[in-house]
Amino acid sequence: MQILDGKLVSEAIKAQLAAQVAELKAAGKKVPHLAAILVGNNPASETYVASKVKSCAECGYNSTLLRFDAQISEKHLLDQIILLNENPDVDGILVQLPLPKHINEELVINTIDPSKDVDGFHPMNVGKMVSGLPAFIPATPYGIMLLLEHYNIPTKGKHAVVIGRSHIVGTPMSILLSRNTNPGNCTVTLTHSHTHNLSEICREADIIIAAIGKPDFVTADMVKEGAVIVDVGINRVEDASKKSGFRLKGDVKFDEVAPKCSYISPVPGGVGPMTIAALLKNTYHATIGLKGSMN
Ligand code: NDP
Repeated sequence: MQILDGKLVSEAIKAQLAAQVAELKAAGKKVPHLAAILVGNNPASETYVASKVKSCAECGYNSTLLRFDAQISEKHLLDQIILLNENPDVDGILVQLPLPKHINEELVINTIDPSKDVDGFHPMNVGKMVSGLPAFIPATPYGIMLLLEHYNIPTKGKHAVVIGRSHIVGTPMSILLSRNTNPGNCTVTLTHSHTHNLSEICREADIIIAAIGKPDFVTADMVKEGAVIVDVGINRVEDASKKSGFRLKGDVKFDEVAPKCSYISPVPGGVGPMTIAALLKNTYHATIGLKGSMN
């Protein structure tokens, strides 16, 4: 069994981006600028945004963090996004989700200029991705593709089972794995809470992408010997021994599943850091005028 070490791979990607940014700087060109919007003070969102801003600094990017009170009006938030759209110094815009209930997330995403939509959630980018055109790919699935690529995981002709069909992880993942690319060319089964016989389906899988949001959901009896397991889940479980009072757990019961796998990504240190590396790659590509990160 080999660990899909997202921390290590993301560090390598960030080092490469830092070198590319140094080249831009040396040539007197514009360096990437990511603007992040954080509404309210959801502790998990605070942590994610802080990591993104820190990673920007590590790679020589400029970043702006715009923080707003949870009571911000939808109109005011949309106005802020429009200002960022119009600001030529800003290359990438991300709005940390979830947003407070009184704000229409769809409207917010649709307001971001697709050429600055480095989270890849705008329908324009989603549509292009589905059509196989250059597009900004949502950072988590893009990060997983980079991880599979780094470890040369054979995907052609393999049966991939994606558990979870969210717009930010499961659904784009299923599309990317089924495309005629490498990694890709999988036969994909996209599963969700209404799927019958999930365990049987998973036991047929050469590759499982678990994106459910339930700790220890995938157990050893659901996994075929030699399968590749990518654990997307980030679940906070109580742990009195930690200063924070919690620890992070994935959607896969790591201790019992790992011995059966050929490859498995840990939590933390797997998909999480790859998501940030992919976001930075999207932002770099936006800065140099590309219309996306993959085609
Ligand atoms: P969502 O809650 O949006 O989606 C969860 C999906 O799991 C849904 O499609 C749901 O099905 C499905 N599901 C729930 N219960 C079952 C079940 N019993 N059997 C089969 N499918 C089920 O979650 P996200 O996609 O946003 O996130 C998933 C996990 O990944 C979370 O832990 C999240 O924190 C983590 N995450 C990690 C990231 C990273 O960077 N590593 C980035 C983004 C998310 P249905 O559609 O029918 O409700």
